[in-house]
Amino acid sequence: MIVGMTTPAERLQAVRDRIAAAARAAGRDPASVALLAVSKTWSADDVRALAALGQAAFGENRAQELTAKAAELAHLPLEWHFVGQLQRNKAAAVARTGAVVHSLDRSALARALSWAGEERGAPVGVFVQVDLGGAAGELAERGGVAPDDVARLADEVAGLPGLELRGLMAVAPRGEPPAPAFARLAVLGERLRADHPGATGLSAGMSGDLEEAVAAGATLVRVGTALFGSRPLTSPGVTPVTGVPPGSSEEV
Ligand SMILES: *Cc1c(COP(=O)(O)O)cnc(C)c1O
Repeated sequence: MIVGMTTPAERLQAVRDRIAAAARAAGRDPASVALLAVSKTWSADDVRALAALGQAAFGENRAQELTAKAAELAHLPLEWHFVGQLQRNKAAAVARTGAVVHSLDRSALARALSWAGEERGAPVGVFVQVDLGGAAGELAERGGVAPDDVARLADEVAGLPGLELRGLMAVAPRGEPPAPAFARLAVLGERLRADHPGATGLSAGMSGDLEEAVAAGATLVRVGTALFGSRPLTSPGVTPVTGVPPGSSEEV
């Protein structure tokens, strides 16, 4: 993806156009798909530039980076989201930014976030992250609960006073076309809504596969590279200089 020669306005428009085209191709209203700008590794100034163009929702994958940027940009009407693996002891700090958590994948974290939601006086919006596995049926280990465990965790979330269940989140597994994986997510989402009618969200799709996600029913796509450019790498295809790869732990 060549983004170096383009402006933030051009990149934002291009992503909005891709979302709208994918929605129309699927017979959906483009307004039914929200854009989350994943600003991990990018500066508060980069966030400001997109915010000035009307982008309000931003996502981070490290607690410290989220709290720092949210504090620096507290005067702007931004909406924060947390998309990385979250340690229990950082739940309160993340919740205090008002962030929606897309990576809820275990009971202990659900209870910690619920406490934090009660403490801040407003429930924390959460997506249960699902591990969509690989073609051979094994777990892909990019974070998330196994499909068979979604209902149990969702029931627990629904019963906790400090949480609001928004829906499901997933990252497409590597080494498999994204469409069938997102189709599996859509089926899980449908099952979830049978028990929890308010949990209508499907957080799926990134720079490389947002079309497939929108075709499968994504209500929110999480886009970093196509909006901001390629994150700096220290080794081929893996570790950003100031961040961690998706799915890895933020703890050092
Ligand atoms: C980094 C990240 C994204 C954005 O990925 P791009 O390929 O840069 O668009 C989306 N979701 C999660 C969970 C991420 O960590």
